[in-house]
Amino acid sequence: MKKIAIVGAGPGGLAAGLILTSKGYSVDIYEKDDRIGGRSKRLYLGDFMFSMGPSFIVYFDAYKWLFEAAGLDIENEVNVTRIDPIYQLNKPDDVWNVPGNPDALLNDIDQKFGERAAYEKFMKREGKTVEAMHPVMVRPFHSRLSLINKHVVHFGRFVGLGNVERKLNRHFTNESLKDIMQFQTKYLGMTPQETPGFFTMLSYLEHMDGIYHIEGGIPHLMDVMATHIKRWGGKIHVNAPVEKILTTDGTATGLKVDGKDHAYDEVIVNADMPKMVETLIDKADQKKYTMKKVDQKAYSVSAYMLYLGIKRRLDFPMHTLVLSDDYKAYTESLKANKDLTDDMSLYIYHPSALDESFAPEGQSSLMVLAPVPNTDAAIDWDAHKTLYKSKVFAQMQKRLNFSPEDITIEKVYTPDDWANSGVYKGATFAMKHTMNQLLHKRPHNRYEDIKNLYLVGGSTHPGSGLPIIFESAMISANLITDKHR
Ligand SMILES: Cc1cc2nc3c(=O)[nH]c(=O)nc-3n(C[C@H](O)[C@H](O)[C@H](O)COP(=O)(O)OP(=O)(O)OC[C@H]3O[C@@H](n4cnc5c(N)ncnc54)[C@H](O)[C@@H]3O)c2cc1C
Repeated sequence: MKKIAIVGAGPGGLAAGLILTSKGYSVDIYEKDDRIGGRSKRLYLGDFMFSMGPSFIVYFDAYKWLFEAAGLDIENEVNVTRIDPIYQLNKPDDVWNVPGNPDALLNDIDQKFGERAAYEKFMKREGKTVEAMHPVMVRPFHSRLSLINKHVVHFGRFVGLGNVERKLNRHFTNESLKDIMQFQTKYLGMTPQETPGFFTMLSYLEHMDGIYHIEGGIPHLMDVMATHIKRWGGKIHVNAPVEKILTTDGTATGLKVDGKDHAYDEVIVNADMPKMVETLIDKADQKKYTMKKVDQKAYSVSAYMLYLGIKRRLDFPMHTLVLSDDYKAYTESLKANKDLTDDMSLYIYHPSALDESFAPEGQSSLMVLAPVPNTDAAIDWDAHKTLYKSKVFAQMQKRLNFSPEDITIEKVYTPDDWANSGVYKGATFAMKHTMNQLLHKRPHNRYEDIKNLYLVGGSTHPGSGLPIIFESAMISANLITDKHR
């Protein structure tokens, strides 16, 4: 059986390893950290547990498809629940626990914004967009010729022109309603003004498909994948940074790890693609993607993170979105990628609301995420690390029943920390999802510059976010299995 090496045990690497070991391939996964999960790893502070990054489970179908591709039923592997409310939207003039039941949500929309018919029509069309998108997200794009395909042409009918903001302006008049259907661009580390209009389907996925919680959080899902990989004979080496991708005549032949060469038939890279180019690929093998080219790509914003152990049980729901007082000004400042703003928007994850495993009894584990400029901005994070925390706390105290005095333990993580962990420019949500960085214009799953090298994860097609990262793993694993059929 062919030997496959995977660089990185993040969600993309584990998902590819899951599929390939299920089909009998010999797989070695090399992870530079002391634990698996990448940006989705588990973090402990005293008795409190955290998910380093992902917490929001939307488009659960893609999770199911990944496990199905490995012959598993995800519902037998994890305890998963559809949550209600999906989140609390905390605006300066309104606090709304958004219902998880689509009928109840429709009634709320009607009462709050009075645009029931427009909303229903819009959601119906977004449902069709998601349906049309699926076959496009699970196929590779090797060149612009890949666009000549009936699924791509069909999906093209739903793409339309303009950005999320403009699209919502065409369909709705109520500003508050527009706000609650555009903040989802945050998940891409982008603003509504720069995100292609079809991404409004994200609000469809939340409202109609629902938001889910996996007991133990996303890190538990990573453990489940690792358990099956090992059960099927795969090896996961932690504390094993890959030093170089070995090539002969432009074809990947293996990896250098800990000074030793290891031969493989195929290599999959889950490490952030720009960092791969910068650190793992010889200059002689850099053709389409030189560092100069990679640097010229547009990158998402970063995330300023607080992981807080709280000595009392908070009354927050699982997910809270605090939207800035002046949301438009906030998104414009984020788009400029220069300065920090005091009127920041926040995403707050409170898993202890529904899952006892995250905090001791009667206490709460809280992750706070503030989108901030990536490291292209000249922000001195050593100087701002603590100062910005007090500003985030001020915003939380203004809007929520929160007191910093209840914190018993904390960790702050800045864009510099993300960058030092191997995320290029600290751009936590990868290359931007702009039209000129999607499909064949995103680094390909079958890497352009080196044969037998494949990419998985947020920096390749289809893009960042767990469901589509899993789709990238399905694409790259299929390319390998098809080749060796
Ligand atoms: C704060 C935050 C919140 C997020 N929230 C969500 C969410 O709620 N829902 C969602 O769907 N998505 C979310 N995302 C986006 C995305 O799902 C995660 O970032 C995800 O972990 C990215 O997975 P990945 O496979 O692309 O890469 P990573 O998680 O970055 O994994 C790459 C792995 O490669 C390893 N590696 C790198 N270089 C080497 C080397 N040389 N040798 C060996 N190993 C190496 C790294 O250590 C890492 O483990 C969030 C991201 C962040 C940062």
